[in-house]
Amino acid sequence: MATTSKKAAPGAAAKAPRRAAAKANPKTPQKAAANAAPNDEAGAEGAVGEASATEAIYLSLLYAIMEHRLLAGTKLVEERLCEVTGASRARIRQVFARLAHEKLVTLVPNRGAFVSSPSVDEAREVFQARRVVEPALAAELAQRATPAKVRSLRRHAMEEDNARARGDRAAMIRLSGEFHILLAEMAGNAILEKLIREMVSLTCLIITLYDRPGAPACAEHEHRQLIDAIEQRDAARASALMAEHLEHIEGSLDLSLPDSGTPDFYSIFSKG
Ligand SMILES: [Zn+2]
Repeated sequence: MATTSKKAAPGAAAKAPRRAAAKANPKTPQKAAANAAPNDEAGAEGAVGEASATEAIYLSLLYAIMEHRLLAGTKLVEERLCEVTGASRARIRQVFARLAHEKLVTLVPNRGAFVSSPSVDEAREVFQARRVVEPALAAELAQRATPAKVRSLRRHAMEEDNARARGDRAAMIRLSGEFHILLAEMAGNAILEKLIREMVSLTCLIITLYDRPGAPACAEHEHRQLIDAIEQRDAARASALMAEHLEHIEGSLDLSLPDSGTPDFYSIFSKG
């Protein structure tokens, strides 16, 4: 199978959202990856440089998956990624292992790493988990809302509008997901934030597989209504709006398809 990794890795690094990139590394992921290459085997720059270079490759792949530039089922060819990033095989494998832990990549023995294809059942489980966690987080944030947090949410909503206005669907999908991550960050629970990050990335993959044609990512007015409820410190409304919003996203997917991941052995063996 052809790989799109050559295109995806550097492009994704260039588009890495600034908040996440800043958190991982003061430099952009792209710079970090470029700087890391010559020092790969040197060791003198210490573990910090290596860790940030690994993080940069991880973020490049993560954003490529979130922006649908790497589609479910795509094989991630180790050699190509080594060539493109200048990183060692060991480092690329480390990144694959992390993405596999987050269920975004599936490692198949003797065949390599593939972008995961969540099944219909897994998709439903992700939304079920999001429905449990995110309304409570929205309520929590409404209780802790500050003018600075609300400004930051509105700035993010504006970035979503800009992406929509210029018809940049890839950015729209990523920014919609990041809105949910931003809410979780602001709610101030690190464990739930990590969980939401993983579920949002998985949702992006699920959308590539099960989106009905022409269905939008997150409806922009629903994010704005959420921000309004948070600004008004109306916890009950924030919670209800988030529950409704998640229902709408799930409703925009076609999860009625038979789950191709689970073979129907009954029909295989009963049909002569
Ligand atoms: Zn949303």
